[in-house]
Amino acid sequence: MRCDLCPNMCGADRTRAAGRCGAKETVRIAKYYLHPFEEPVISGKNGSGTVFFCGCPLQCVFCQNYEVSRNLRGKYISDKELAEIFKKLEDAGATNINLVNPTHYSRAIMRALEIYRPNIPVVYNTHGYERKEILFEIDPYIDIYLPDMKFFSPALSERYTGISDYFEKASAAIEFMAEKPLVFGDKGIMKSGTLVRHLVLPQCTSDSKKILDWFADIKDKAFINVMSQYTPFGDIEKFPELKRKITKREYESVLEYAMSLGIENMFYQKIESAEEIYIPKWDY
Ligand code: SF4
Repeated sequence: MRCDLCPNMCGADRTRAAGRCGAKETVRIAKYYLHPFEEPVISGKNGSGTVFFCGCPLQCVFCQNYEVSRNLRGKYISDKELAEIFKKLEDAGATNINLVNPTHYSRAIMRALEIYRPNIPVVYNTHGYERKEILFEIDPYIDIYLPDMKFFSPALSERYTGISDYFEKASAAIEFMAEKPLVFGDKGIMKSGTLVRHLVLPQCTSDSKKILDWFADIKDKAFINVMSQYTPFGDIEKFPELKRKITKREYESVLEYAMSLGIENMFYQKIESAEEIYIPKWDY
């Protein structure tokens, strides 16, 4: 079967060879654990029951999870084993089941969720480069969407991922996700809805502001986390502008712009958040 799970539509027969995402048919994971460093509304008290999937359709040059997104490591598991992991995380007290980078395994994830459906919210934690048709299939299994919105400019997404239609595809996908009702439970923990993440990149404040202009149209239906934690990492030798963290001035100018647009459903970080504490230690 030719793979059509993401907008790359590369048509790989993943039973034989990996597609552009680097992933073959069988699910491969790098780690699962109770992750304490998502947004407080996601991690809650006990941590988010996070499963890190290997491979990625986007392949950003600055990826912090480089070894995992390039599928250079990991453990192959069956649909049944994935379902058992969901149960194990739930039994350990996870606030939710958090599927990190799930796109290229979305059908296997649906099969695993048919085997075991957790009694806690299921989070679809994605780079944002999604096909609406596939989201429509997985939507009944998902409670919370946690999509990145990385780039507005086609030239910028082409430069850092080799993909020029990132914004076109991600904006359509996130507008679909934002229809999920926003619901918060005890202690403000998210139960349903969409939380968009935008990482401010060095020298890219004007791109960030265009993303905020777009978000302003859905600002009452979703939340946005404007993140300052960019840390130079990955395959950035040819990208000198990416070799520094963002400045306080860059970050504040983006936050001020968000406020000028009346965006209230917003989280932000301390500028000191740009530390490697956010990069997990891989188990497989
Ligand atoms: S998920 Fe992977 S194999 Fe499938 S279309 Fe996208 S890049 Fe190709």
